[in-house]
Amino acid sequence: MAEGIEVPPRSRLFRLAPIGLGTPLSESLASYVARLAETHGWSVQRLVSYHIVPQTTGRYGPLGGGRSFWEKQGRMANGFGIGTKRWVEALQTLTCREGLQDLTLLRWQSVLSLREAMRKHRAWCPSCFEDWRHDLVYEPLLWCLACVTHCPIHRRELISLCPRVSCQAALPILDAQLRTGFCSRCFSWLGVPRRSRVSRHSSQRVPPCERWMVNAVGELIAASGQIDGHNSIRAFPEVLRECAVVWGHGTLKQLARTVSMPPSLVTAWARSTHRPSLLWVLGMCLQLRITPLRLLTSVPGSLAGHKRRHRHKATDWRVPGDRARGTRDLESLSLRLKRILARREKVPPTLPAVAKEVGCESWYLLQEYPRLCQRIRDRAKRYRQNRAKTRLAQLGVSIRGATQTLFLEGRYPSARRVQQVLQKPALFKHPLLAEVWRETKRKLGIIDK
Ligand SMILES: [Zn+2]
Ligand SMILES: [Zn+2]
Repeated sequence: MAEGIEVPPRSRLFRLAPIGLGTPLSESLASYVARLAETHGWSVQRLVSYHIVPQTTGRYGPLGGGRSFWEKQGRMANGFGIGTKRWVEALQTLTCREGLQDLTLLRWQSVLSLREAMRKHRAWCPSCFEDWRHDLVYEPLLWCLACVTHCPIHRRELISLCPRVSCQAALPILDAQLRTGFCSRCFSWLGVPRRSRVSRHSSQRVPPCERWMVNAVGELIAASGQIDGHNSIRAFPEVLRECAVVWGHGTLKQLARTVSMPPSLVTAWARSTHRPSLLWVLGMCLQLRITPLRLLTSVPGSLAGHKRRHRHKATDWRVPGDRARGTRDLESLSLRLKRILARREKVPPTLPAVAKEVGCESWYLLQEYPRLCQRIRDRAKRYRQNRAKTRLAQLGVSIRGATQTLFLEGRYPSARRVQQVLQKPALFKHPLLAEVWRETKRKLGIIDK
C-alpha cells in the first residue's frame, strides 16, 4: 500500500523562514543563526559547535568560546568568502531551506570586493527593535554594512555600543549567548522607544547622499534573490568601458576625472587586476547618478539613455568620509597650493605632505593641478638631491681625516679600519666614497696591499 508514496526529505533542524527576503531589510545570516538557536531553545554556542561547525569542518564537539573564536565565526556568518559559502550550505542542509545565500552578499562577490564592506561588530536601530518587540525581532543585513550609518525607516543613526552605562560593550556579530535585540554581554534589551530622550538626541537630519547610499545598498540586498548567479550581473571591466564611452569621452582617464577617482585605480578595475570595493562603486555611482544595481545589471548599450534622463539632477552631493576632494572650493585650493610654493622653507614639503596639509588626497591634486603639483615635486626633489650631495661631501672629509689619522698612528688605513673609526660599516659601498679613500691613500704614498 505504501508503494508510490514519496516521503519529503526531513530536515535535522527546524525549517525556519528568513524574514524580509527580497526587501532592503532582508535578514542577515547571523540573525538567522541566532533565531534558529532560539527556536530550538539552544544557545548560539550549541548550535554553532554541535551542528554548523561539524558540517563545515567535520570537527564535532565543544569549541573554544574566546573572543577570537566568535570574531572568526561572525566573519563566516556575515562575510562573503568561501567560509560564508560553507556556512550557507551547512544551514541549507540542516534546515532543508533553499536561498539562504540571500542573507549574505555572496551574489555580489563576483563583481565587488567586500573585504572592507562588512562591520566587525553589531550595529542596530533601537527604534526598529522597539517596533518589533512584540513581534519577530531580527537584524537586517543592511545594518551589517559599514557604509550604512542610519536606519532608512526611522532616519536615526545606528547604535554600535550597548547603551547600558555599566556595559557599553561593542558586540560581536556572533556570540555564545547571542539573542536578536539583546546585548550578548549584559543581556539588556537594546530597543529604545522613539520618543525617549536618548532617541530624540540621536535622530538628526540625514544628509541626502547618505540617504541615497542606504537606499542604493538596500536595493542591492533586495535584488539578491532575483539575480541569477552570474547571468545578469555584468562584468565590471565591461561596464567601465561603456561608462568611459558615455561619461568619459571614450577614455578611462577622463572617466576617472568625471567621478573624481584615481586614474590608476579605474585602470586597475578595467584590467581586472583589482575588484572595486563597494564604497568606491557607491562613490562612482553617486557621481554618475545611477544606482549600483542599475549599473551592474544594465543592458549593454543602455547607459547613454540613462545619462540623458538624469542630466539635470543636482550635483552637490558628496560621498561621506570621502577625503579625496577635501574642500570643494577649487579656487581657494589652488591659492593655498601657490602659497605653500611661495613659502621659503628649510625643508620643502613633499606632495603627500602638502595634500595632508590642505586636507585632500595626492591623486586628486595631481588630477586638478598637474603643474602646481609638478613644481611641488620638483622642489622637494631638488632639496633631496642637494641634501644627498652635502652629505657625501661631509663623509668625504671624514674619510680623508680618518685615513690620515690612521696613517699617522702607524696603522694601515684599511677599509675596515676606516669604517670602524667612523662607525659606518657599509660606507664604501658608495663608489664615490671608496674613490675618496683610495685617492687619500695615493696622496699619502701608500701602495695598495
Ligand atoms: Zn529603525
Ligand atoms: Zn550590554
